[in-house]
Amino acid sequence: MKERLSRQISAIKEQGNYRCVRYLRPVSSTRVLYEGRQFLNLCSNSYLSLHAHEEVITAARDAVREYGAGTCASRSVSGSIDIHRSLEEEIAAFKSYPGALIFSSGYLANMGIIATLAQEPDTIFSDGLNHSSIIDAARLSRARKVIYRHRDMADLERRLKRHRGKGEKFIVTESIFSMDGDVAPLGDLCALKEKYGARLVVDEAHATGVFGERGQGLEEHFGLSGRIDVQMGTFGKALGSFGAFVLSGEIVLDYLVNRARTFMYTTALPASALAAARAALKLVRRDGSIREGLWENIRYMRGRLSAAGFDLKESQGPIIPLIVGEDESTTAMQRMLSERGIFLQAIRPPTVPEGTSRLRLTIVRAYTLEEMDEAVEGLCEAGRAAGVI
Ligand code: PMP
Repeated sequence: MKERLSRQISAIKEQGNYRCVRYLRPVSSTRVLYEGRQFLNLCSNSYLSLHAHEEVITAARDAVREYGAGTCASRSVSGSIDIHRSLEEEIAAFKSYPGALIFSSGYLANMGIIATLAQEPDTIFSDGLNHSSIIDAARLSRARKVIYRHRDMADLERRLKRHRGKGEKFIVTESIFSMDGDVAPLGDLCALKEKYGARLVVDEAHATGVFGERGQGLEEHFGLSGRIDVQMGTFGKALGSFGAFVLSGEIVLDYLVNRARTFMYTTALPASALAAARAALKLVRRDGSIREGLWENIRYMRGRLSAAGFDLKESQGPIIPLIVGEDESTTAMQRMLSERGIFLQAIRPPTVPEGTSRLRLTIVRAYTLEEMDEAVEGLCEAGRAAGVI
């Protein structure tokens, strides 16, 4: 086995696609220490910078004192604590759904929803660029899989029309795509799912807290409340903590409690993560200026990068893909940025399709103007060297 693995690792290295783990230590909400040097972190998903907010930290600290460091049991055994219930009620109310169920991570939530709800002889219609957790969940389910072209509603409709299978039809999409930062046409997806009697499952991992008048997500932004059958989102991005939630009606949630193996057979979130998420959610609901601060930074960075000649594709919001193409030139750009004290990861296959390797940068609220200028200058220098601009 070792020989085979070594051979495959060598091949990964030859492709310029080798990864290693980088161990960091935060020095502020935007800067990290890596191998003794300080870097500006351009790839955190803490869009609202709430992971470092005083109220969030205090809530986590108080919860540890009261509940201890871990729950040390699965949710089905003795790991469900009262903070789970409070947070489930609060997130369901915030998103205007009948109920919520907390999972220990977004990956587990997607696995739980898709692999459990979609059964034989059902069919899953999945966007071609859906997150790996959705792809893996579809693989694990016993349903048929149909992949439609990314955000292409004509292609999806053709496939729905042609579909002759028995059972339920599930359409699964991210609302904002994690690697491309573009937005799914959720209104058209609702219309199609209604026309063809399908169920719509939406992953709002990167939209929660960021989009919509009240920060509920893209469902709110598009005015689609009540039309999505199952939604998931995470506490580990804009809400600055860890874990995930599934929103739906009573029967679906009850079924997941009884049958979703990724709910039943993993340790429940610790009280600190739950309390931090509650505090972050409270801040999002109370203080719209937090979201506005993020959007000011998004507008500034997008404006400067576009003016410098970067093609931001159809991305919107805090996720900006700078597509380079080849793995090697992407890692070369990453190295140049690293020399300038900018921490940004090259995203390569299999995370994204072959030939679309990229730098994926994310904008967060805590960046200062100076930090954003520093980032743009570094990106321009590396972009010119790689021939991207
Ligand atoms: N869905 C999407 C769209 C994601 O980007 C991610 C995480 N990157 C997940 C699900 C999984 O969430 P978690 O990190 O909480 O497992």
